[in-house]
Amino acid sequence: MNIPKYSKMFFMVFILLQIIGCASSQRISLNNFSESIITAEKWGGTPANDSLAKRHTITHITIHHQGEPFPEGKDPVKYLQNLQKWSRNEKHWIDIPYHFIIDLNGKVYEGRNINFAGDTNTEYNPTGHALIEVVGNFEEVEPNEMQLEALIKTITWLADKYIVPVDSIRGHKDYSSKTVCPGKNLYRYLENKYIADEVRKNLKSK
Ligand SMILES: [Zn+2]
Repeated sequence: MNIPKYSKMFFMVFILLQIIGCASSQRISLNNFSESIITAEKWGGTPANDSLAKRHTITHITIHHQGEPFPEGKDPVKYLQNLQKWSRNEKHWIDIPYHFIIDLNGKVYEGRNINFAGDTNTEYNPTGHALIEVVGNFEEVEPNEMQLEALIKTITWLADKYIVPVDSIRGHKDYSSKTVCPGKNLYRYLENKYIADEVRKNLKSK
């Protein structure tokens, strides 16, 4: 019996299964996705005072970065709890300015209630925008694959749910001259249409 030959065959089958596995994980189930979002209640957030909230209807999806380094090992839950405190105590906003936050492992957390308009330190009006923040500073580092994948899933889910045209998926700096947000290394994926193409593909195959 020629063992190396069989090993080679098993190896080829293994690789083939890997390819099939990868291909199927690319196709996303939008129902399962929304269940995977870590709600504000789960990470220990407290709801905003909705009598102060400005209600809106989603027409745009806008990408942000944190704009500060997010070191490996930093606890995303503590980060969110501090961000909520800072937003309320320092900025006097009703809540975290963003609706969704993506950590280094591609986990998606709920921020502000999506039905309430977000907030910004810059001059654009975020009413109608679903705001997604990816942690890290993408002027300095590259977004990792898990973050990119989670970002595309989040955008696909939102675009499908609120019927947002792919052309209305943009970065913060498209609306404000006062910022480089979401950072050049993440903005590149908007500029070269990678995000738009992936979202379109996902919407077609759902
Ligand atoms: Zn921003």
